[in-house]
Amino acid sequence: MSEMLAARLYEPGKPLRVESVAVPTPDEGEVLIKVAACGLCGTDIHLAVDGDIPVEHTPITLGHESAGTIVELGQNVKGFAVGDRVALFPSANCGECRFCQEGRESLCDRSKVYGMARNGGLAGFITAPAHSLIAIPDSIPFDIAAIVTDGVSTPFHALRGRGKLQAGESVAVVGCGGLGTHAIMIAKMMGAGPIVAVDVQTEALERALSLGADIAINPTQDDVSKTIRKELGIRGVDLSLEFVGSAKTVDVALRALNKTGRAVLVGVGMDTPTLPPLIRFVGMEQSVLGSFGMNKADIEDLFSYVDKGELDLSKSVSAKFPLAEINEALHTLASKDVGVVRVVVEPS
Ligand SMILES: [Zn+2]
Ligand SMILES: [Zn+2]
Repeated sequence: MSEMLAARLYEPGKPLRVESVAVPTPDEGEVLIKVAACGLCGTDIHLAVDGDIPVEHTPITLGHESAGTIVELGQNVKGFAVGDRVALFPSANCGECRFCQEGRESLCDRSKVYGMARNGGLAGFITAPAHSLIAIPDSIPFDIAAIVTDGVSTPFHALRGRGKLQAGESVAVVGCGGLGTHAIMIAKMMGAGPIVAVDVQTEALERALSLGADIAINPTQDDVSKTIRKELGIRGVDLSLEFVGSAKTVDVALRALNKTGRAVLVGVGMDTPTLPPLIRFVGMEQSVLGSFGMNKADIEDLFSYVDKGELDLSKSVSAKFPLAEINEALHTLASKDVGVVRVVVEPS
């Protein structure tokens, strides 16, 4: 076991190269993991296809949604053993900075995101610091565990951590792709309602309704805030989430709010959104919040919900590919086919 296959990015816009590289050696405090599943997400399209998010160095092995089995321990690893099934926090966080100490690992000052700053999980093996691992309950298969680490935990963090969602509150989800779809499922699980789905694609809206949304609005056809008032008899929602990352959709999320409403922005990009007129925004005591990634505790808690059967993710993985077909997998995700919730690659 000295060589492994890895899907490596040399240049954005060009296919990833699946090539043989040396199996990495775990440093002190790290473990070596045999990767069983690695999810793809929109960020991978930005990195590999569009090139609008830069990586720290090339070539680099992509993949930041990984799960697998520990096969080797570095020095001074406590709490894990060879044979343990684990999921990786999407970045190798330092474990020592103020944010790591507070359990806000996505804000780590010395964060090394897999597939951007450090070799990722689209490979036979990956090394990771033991403090960034999460044990996977026996009942959860590797592909589901992998997507929980980002695709499911990112909307959960936005709803619970940043949005402070309470049971009985109304929610609007703007953008019902992979993250938005899970936001609707989790909002439902947390007892929210009514839940409003907003998307420009009919199929995405139909899926949202089938997963628990109460009404679905296409903003190119109907005014979102007027439709909420008319259909639901409320002046706006308590919490809106934005997953697209454009000024236009942020505006939709802000205008959907009731008095004291919170808008949580998850989608990233270079757009500069504007606030509603201050007489409205201030006069209604509204808030707008950013939400970046997740805390490690979000992943742990989601594993517990899935393990107990409170959250059903059995339909969340739309397609699986072997590592050799990584470019087809990326193409499937990049095609923005609305049937695709999450794509997973299985390196072994
Ligand atoms: Zn991601
Ligand atoms: Zn840190």
